[in-house]
Amino acid sequence: MHGPTQRILLVYTGGTIGMKESPQGLIPVSVDDLLEQLPDLGSLPLELSLCSLDQPMDSSDLQPRHWQEMGSLIAGKADEFDGFLVLHGTDTMAYSSAALSFMLQQLNKPVIFTGSQLPLSHPRSDAGSHLMSALELASACNSDGSPKIPEVTLYFNHQLYRGNRVRKIHALGFDAFDSPNFPVLARAGTRMVISEEVIGQGMPVPDRTESVTKGMRWRPELDTAVGSIKCIPGMSGKALDKYLKDMDFKVLLLEAYGTGNIPNDTTLLDALRSMVARGGQVVALSQCLGGRVDLNQYQAGRRLLDLGALEGKDISFEAALTKSMHLLGCGVPDFAEAFGRSLAGEIS
Ligand code: ASP
Repeated sequence: MHGPTQRILLVYTGGTIGMKESPQGLIPVSVDDLLEQLPDLGSLPLELSLCSLDQPMDSSDLQPRHWQEMGSLIAGKADEFDGFLVLHGTDTMAYSSAALSFMLQQLNKPVIFTGSQLPLSHPRSDAGSHLMSALELASACNSDGSPKIPEVTLYFNHQLYRGNRVRKIHALGFDAFDSPNFPVLARAGTRMVISEEVIGQGMPVPDRTESVTKGMRWRPELDTAVGSIKCIPGMSGKALDKYLKDMDFKVLLLEAYGTGNIPNDTTLLDALRSMVARGGQVVALSQCLGGRVDLNQYQAGRRLLDLGALEGKDISFEAALTKSMHLLGCGVPDFAEAFGRSLAGEIS
């Protein structure tokens, strides 16, 4: 599976994987301390280089500007390395992996996010096996030297997921992630099994002319005027209307029930209608982890269609948020058209 020695850049952002105990609870260590804890990588045919965010952190502190920082570390060295491994906290890893899948389109090289539920230093840690398997996957290449997995992905608990399809589903278990609407890209058992037919599925065809990274589109621009609200029984549209006006969101992610259904409440419908009338976008998502939004199925969903909401299809919340910020940041002329299209395999 491996060709000549692969050059891999490890981007350390913080997270439990490198944390240590302190009187205030677990805190991230510096990149130098992390280096001392890394297991012996001698058996893998790769050359590893390390870099880090200015300030490694608990991923709950990460903001969109840190996605730009991570992305620029990768984009700036796209030609120097064969693959990238991002060590990251689990709490917001699915947001970061989704964001980078949009910001680094057509990089045509593996960018694998991983982390752990227990620090590297813990005797029962899941960190060592995540690190080794993710490195093996990041350096996997075909006989012509091209990478086997030229996507932004996330490796956790023996499975490799597409980065914009994965969700954190467990706060404590080692099986912290799942990808309910898209198959896994690889499984690590006693052998590493890569599902080649899944790699690149549903993604725009990459431009592979000359240098593999030539067609790369590094788009760091993000516009954070995106809000979200979850439908709950008895919700009032009056408070929502004030919130939407005060916040001046350009996009509202509405977590509706089931296939995209909302209550028949006049104040709620008026608040959403007025957001659309101001030029904003309302995107209907589902509170369910799996399945897809279909606003035609029920009268309770058609209400949203009638007021001009967009159908989120089977996109995850994390992908919908980061895709919206990316599209607004890029200033696309037709948000609805671009949102409904697969940019990086995030919807089917
Ligand atoms: N709070 C930690 C983080 O997201 C959790 C983890 O890494 O598992 O950074």
